[in-house]
Amino acid sequence: MSTPIISVTDVRKSYGRGQNRFDALSGVSFDIYEGESVAIVGKSGSGKSTLMHLLALLDAPTSGTVALEGVDTGTLRGSRLNRTRNKTFGFVFQQFFLTGNDTVLENVVLPLKIAGVRPGERRRRAHAALEQLELDDKARNKAANLSCGQKQRAVIARALVNNPRILFADEPTGNLDSATGGVVEDILFGLNREHGITLIVVTHDEDLAARCDRRILIRDGAIVEDSAIEVAA
Ligand code: ADP
Ligand code: MG
Repeated sequence: MSTPIISVTDVRKSYGRGQNRFDALSGVSFDIYEGESVAIVGKSGSGKSTLMHLLALLDAPTSGTVALEGVDTGTLRGSRLNRTRNKTFGFVFQQFFLTGNDTVLENVVLPLKIAGVRPGERRRRAHAALEQLELDDKARNKAANLSCGQKQRAVIARALVNNPRILFADEPTGNLDSATGGVVEDILFGLNREHGITLIVVTHDEDLAARCDRRILIRDGAIVEDSAIEVAA
C-alpha cells in the first residue's frame, strides 16, 4: 500500500499543567490516504478541533507523531513549517474568517502573498479560484458585504488558491442555512472527487458525515469508532 498522506501515531494533547492539566487527546492513531474524504465527529468538547489543529500543523502534540507523507512533522520548524502548511493545506475554518474591510480579492490572494507569488500571478490565480466558486463578480466588493454563503465560498476560494492537497474544514456549514450549506458541501465534495483533494471535515452534522468515505468518532479525546478499521474497545 502507498504511504499515507497523514499518519497519526499515539498522539496526546494536554492543556494546562499540574492540577489544571486537561488531556484533550489521550492517544490517537490512524492513517489517512490521499483522496479520502474523512469526517471527524463527536460531541462538543470531545477533542475534534484539537485533533484537526494537530493534523493541520497549527499546534504540536504533547507526545506522539504526526507524519506528512512519511516525514515526522515534529522535525519541521519556523519557515519550513509555515511553507509546508501553506503549500499543502487549505483551511475552511470559522475562526479563520475573512477580513471584512478588505475586498474579496484581497482576502483570496493572502495565501499567495505569504507564499511569495508575484502580484500579477497572484491576481490571476485568485480570479481563477473565484470563478470556480462563481464569485468572481464579487471580487471588488468588501468581504463584509457578502452573504453568509458567499463568505463561505470566498473562504473556500482562498483555501484553494494554493492548489492544496489537503483541505481541512471545521464545521464548514455550521453557520449556514440548509440550502446554502448544501451548496458548500457540494463544492467541497466536488473538489474531493474531481481534483482528488483529500478532505478532512470536523462536523456534528451526521448527514455531512455520511457523505464522507469515512467517519471517525471521537469521545473524550479517544477514537471510539472508525468506519475504515476495527477499533479495539
Ligand atoms: P471540540 O472541537 O470537539 O468541541 P475541542 O478540541 O475544541 O473540542 O476541545 C476539547 C477539550 O479541550 C474541551 O474540553 C476544551 O475545553 C479543551 N480545550 C481546548 N482548547 C483548550 C485550550 N487552549 N486550553 C485549555 N483547554 C482547552
Ligand atoms: Mg470544535
